[in-house]
Amino acid sequence: MATLPVLTAPDPRLKRVSKPVDKVDDSIRRLMDDMLETMYASAGVGLAAPQVGIAKRVIVMDIAREGEDPKPLKMANPEILWRSDEEIVCEEGCLSVPDQYSEISRPKAVKIRYLDGENEIREMDADGFLATCIQHEIDHLNGILFIDHISALKRNIIVRKLAKARKLSEPSLL
Ligand SMILES: [Zn+2]
Repeated sequence: MATLPVLTAPDPRLKRVSKPVDKVDDSIRRLMDDMLETMYASAGVGLAAPQVGIAKRVIVMDIAREGEDPKPLKMANPEILWRSDEEIVCEEGCLSVPDQYSEISRPKAVKIRYLDGENEIREMDADGFLATCIQHEIDHLNGILFIDHISALKRNIIVRKLAKARKLSEPSLL
């Protein structure tokens, strides 16, 4: 397993729509494992393949709390089959939008279908924080960041801050 570099906004690769995988084979399983390792190393609870520059519909998550046993979830081609009318507000952050948090309202519960790490079709009912997490990660596969759910004014402030921070951390060219 290996940790992968995580792209940060406003990287244009985060805005692409990712392609479905044909099959969860060894190369996709390896990607899922590397993504989990990357996510754990950054103390994240979810990661989508486009965040590591790979435009494939693959996401990983683990919402187990500190001290609980890890519960890694690996999903390819996740689709939302149903969403509740009721919404909840969660404070969201993202490894691709470092140090920024916003309260986002989303459907409280979803039913999804996906391929697991063994290429088996599975369905899952999720609600609360897990439902928020799944919707956040599926958004990444469609080129959508959580800051796209807030006002353009607030989003522009955040993106400008990130662009500036990135410029400062880039090595100067000599
Ligand atoms: Zn994210």
